Amino acid sequence: MSQKYDVIVIGGGPGGYVAAIKSAQLGFKTACIEKYKGKDGKMALGGTCLNVGCIPSKALLDSSWKFHEATESFAVHGISTGDVKIDVPAMIGRKDGIVKNLTGGIGLLFKGNGVTSIEGHGKLLANKRVEVTKDDGSVEVYEADNVIIASGSQPINIPPAPVDQKVIVDSTGALDFQEAPKRLGVIGAGVIGLELGSVWARLGSKVTVIEALDKFLPAVDEQVAKEAQKVLTKQGLEIRLGARVTGSTVKGNEVTVAFTDAEGEKQETFDKVIVAVGRRPETKNLLAEDSEVKLDERGFIYVNEFCATSVPGVYAIGDVVRGPMLAHKASEEGVMVAERIAGHKAQMNYDLIPGVIYTHPEIAGVGKTEQQLKGEGVAINVGVFPFAASGRAMAANDTTGFVKIIADAATDRVLGAHVIGPSAAELVQQCAIAMEFGTSAEDLGLMVFSHPTLSEAVHEAALAVNGEAIHIPNRKKR
Ligand code: FAD
Ligand code: AMP
Repeated sequence: MSQKYDVIVIGGGPGGYVAAIKSAQLGFKTACIEKYKGKDGKMALGGTCLNVGCIPSKALLDSSWKFHEATESFAVHGISTGDVKIDVPAMIGRKDGIVKNLTGGIGLLFKGNGVTSIEGHGKLLANKRVEVTKDDGSVEVYEADNVIIASGSQPINIPPAPVDQKVIVDSTGALDFQEAPKRLGVIGAGVIGLELGSVWARLGSKVTVIEALDKFLPAVDEQVAKEAQKVLTKQGLEIRLGARVTGSTVKGNEVTVAFTDAEGEKQETFDKVIVAVGRRPETKNLLAEDSEVKLDERGFIYVNEFCATSVPGVYAIGDVVRGPMLAHKASEEGVMVAERIAGHKAQMNYDLIPGVIYTHPEIAGVGKTEQQLKGEGVAINVGVFPFAASGRAMAANDTTGFVKIIADAATDRVLGAHVIGPSAAELVQQCAIAMEFGTSAEDLGLMVFSHPTLSEAVHEAALAVNGEAIHIPNRKKR
């Protein structure tokens, strides 16, 4: 007889493992199926985020930033370092250690919460049965009252630049270079392309980013995107917009990429190319035909606002469903679904999911952008405070960028907060908390902020919304 669970989760990424832990905490007999194998050949929980995404990329961003600081900006503090060297394999090894630690930690959390971990490839059959195929080909079928699909996503491949993980790599391959390539091409100026491009540029690569769209970071607030393009270009990233890759030829250890832009056809030769043109939902061999779970027109699993699929008792969360492909979005959907299975009235505020690009300076935002609000015909007031006027940013020698707060002109309610600058991710999170409670710009302006902090820039930008900033001339008069 097959084993029965209250909840079976397919996929152990930040969506799936959080859904499984929460389900177990709510008293359900829970199992989580995962097939991914880490570098040691053993099953590893944590999904893209912990294994080949958020965490390893941030580990390399932090290491490479320290190298950049040591070589470029220690002198300004009066520190001389002599000849600073980077040991790339050691940097990669540190990253691998962090990954191993964290993925192992999820196993411990599963044990602590009573989640059963099942190794193998999961496939949803009819009537909420789940088939698991192990490496040796053996198959087991489990039954569940509820199934949560959290199979995540995979990098998109484009025919003109087929990934061989040697010369042409995807985001996973780009986390494992053993030396900084002299000439690095990055196809796609999205979040992942810019973050990984930054890592290797800081370590000495000459980086060229080839982006098909004419506009840089179209989803980001335009004023922020403009500043970001300026700053990243100054850091040495050559950003070619309106340039579509049409082909590539690998010869030995280098690759010549062909692309077309406004001037016609061009070619450029690189030692490595990273393909970072987005990710696709992972639904391969996941749903039996009679499972009756429907996909939407873009190939994501169709779900409603509560992550319920077209089949009662079957849910889907994270990258495999609509919405931003972000770890925190996946996790919160996991919590919401577990709560709803328990009969609680949980819901998620999809309007306030912060997004961050971990370049330096960081680029972060929550809520709506100025161009979005103008497009919707909403009358707004905008307050901007530059880090150049922040004592804390000056002390840290990190004054690039600004905080921008956008409020409804009629109600003063904050509708968007956008930051490019030091600790932008953390500053935007403060705004997100306040916005969740319906803050007005005036409310933020009335709060007491510690001095000296980068957070004071949020305070001043909120004051500037209504022409009341103290530490900069107000563009808007009261
Ligand atoms: P995943 O993390 O992809 O997990 C899905 C899991 O399901 C995988 O482990 C997979 O092996 C398993 N699986 C799939 N199908 C099956 C099956 N049939 N049977 C068994 N197991 C299966 N997001 C952020 O929020 N912040 C960041 O800084 C950030 N940085 C990123 C950097 C990079 C380089 C990349 C690639 C992504 C980054 N992301 C970031 C995105 C983030 O990693 C994803 O949004 C997040 O991992 C999605 O979580 P998930 O649980 O939906 O899917
Ligand atoms: P994101 O989806 O944020 O990871 O960004 C991926 C980026 O890659 C998008 O901005 C796409 O416009 C870009 N892109 C997709 N295909 C190509 C291509 N053939 N050449 C250049 N850029 C591309």
